[in-house]
Amino acid sequence: MGFFDNQYSLHPNSILFLIMNTISRFLCPAVLLIALNASAQQKPFPGTVKKPATVFKARTEQEWLKIQVDSLTGYKMYGRGYVNNGKETAARYIVKEFKEFKLKPIFKDGTYQQGFAFPVNTFPGEQILEIDDKKLRPGEEYVIDPSSPSFSASNLEVKKVNFAKIKDTTDWKETLATIDSTHIWYFDNFKSVCSLLQLRRDQMVAQLPRGCYLIPEENRLTWNVSRQTMAATVFYVKESLMPKKIKSVKAEVKSVFIERCSSLNISGVVPGEVKDTFLAITTHYDHLGMMGDSATFAGASDNASGVAMLLSIASYFGKFPQHYSILFVAFAGENAGLMGSEFFTWQPPVPLKNIKFLTNLGIMSDFSTGMTVVNGTQYPIEFDQMDKINKKEEFVSEITPKGQAANSDHYHFSKLGVPAFFIYSNGGKAHFHDVFDSPELLSLTNTGGANRLLIDFIKSLN
Ligand SMILES: [Zn+2]
Repeated sequence: MGFFDNQYSLHPNSILFLIMNTISRFLCPAVLLIALNASAQQKPFPGTVKKPATVFKARTEQEWLKIQVDSLTGYKMYGRGYVNNGKETAARYIVKEFKEFKLKPIFKDGTYQQGFAFPVNTFPGEQILEIDDKKLRPGEEYVIDPSSPSFSASNLEVKKVNFAKIKDTTDWKETLATIDSTHIWYFDNFKSVCSLLQLRRDQMVAQLPRGCYLIPEENRLTWNVSRQTMAATVFYVKESLMPKKIKSVKAEVKSVFIERCSSLNISGVVPGEVKDTFLAITTHYDHLGMMGDSATFAGASDNASGVAMLLSIASYFGKFPQHYSILFVAFAGENAGLMGSEFFTWQPPVPLKNIKFLTNLGIMSDFSTGMTVVNGTQYPIEFDQMDKINKKEEFVSEITPKGQAANSDHYHFSKLGVPAFFIYSNGGKAHFHDVFDSPELLSLTNTGGANRLLIDFIKSLN
């Protein structure tokens, strides 16, 4: 086991990590295949977080995972976000599962929960966008920029600005000076000015004054979580639904900015023979929640699939304790900017230096084209170990090693010197951060193989 001890001296270069942190986070797959076992689908009863009884009858690992994904995306979970207590319901569900799998509480107060808080802009209640008397469907036909404040207008004249005509920063500044909040602003060719000024769309809209803006979107409509608000209220609307000339607009945005939105990391342990040395398995359970009362971002691939995989691994090790203790953590606030893992590393329930290796699970939705291991090139010994197990047993088609990336919760551990992998499935990337990331569109192809590979890999670290 000497090579593990050497890992403690392998501290990743923190400057590199800072650079990586500026790279916007991406991951994520999802898929367009038919869901298995429709009969297993059932929604938790209102007010409860019951696990479907059918979970005990699952014939395969894949079926078991499917039932978990259905529960985590079901009624009352509300996209595991910031309205209707969605994230709290998800947290309670995970605690219940940890208890059932005989995991022990890890926090000093004898609980599985670690509370922390961060700011978040939320969208409870009804949101309305009507263009020329046609009511558009939230999530599918438009999304509201997540940093938008509340705004209400009917009867305002619509003014169109064609940004293809803007040639430099001076033109952009002059256009900004003409904008007022007594009109609704229709921004045509907005992408051209973003690329001209080499700024992201969110950086551009943050410069807009208070008012209401319609920006056509030719690509997929995706949403996010924002920890801040801006002056402008912005709708991104499916380009095909935008008339050349708009006669009337009715817009209602109701957002509530929560300065300290409390959240819970959930963690439990399976004590090993060596109690104070840990192999950690982590993932995030939060998603985007709801944009208004009708657009739910269920987050089946991101990251109900990862939570289901973590639960299945927890259920295994709960029955089969190992040489080292196995620590499980389901983080909150990942989609809001890795908030939960950051807090966990500030106040870890066990010394971080006692974590021998951490395996962070990203989207675990479709392994038909294998999986990616972030930090695989940083930790070649562990990577080869995993690859060898996989080649022998042919669990998944291929494992691709990658370098460092600040794209999920492993990042906060990596930068403090905890050896860590971040693993996600490569197949299916059709839906991500949109309302179509639903359990019906999740294939879970070969998640059974991936499950066995992950378990065997973790055992090999003992
Ligand atoms: Zn996400």
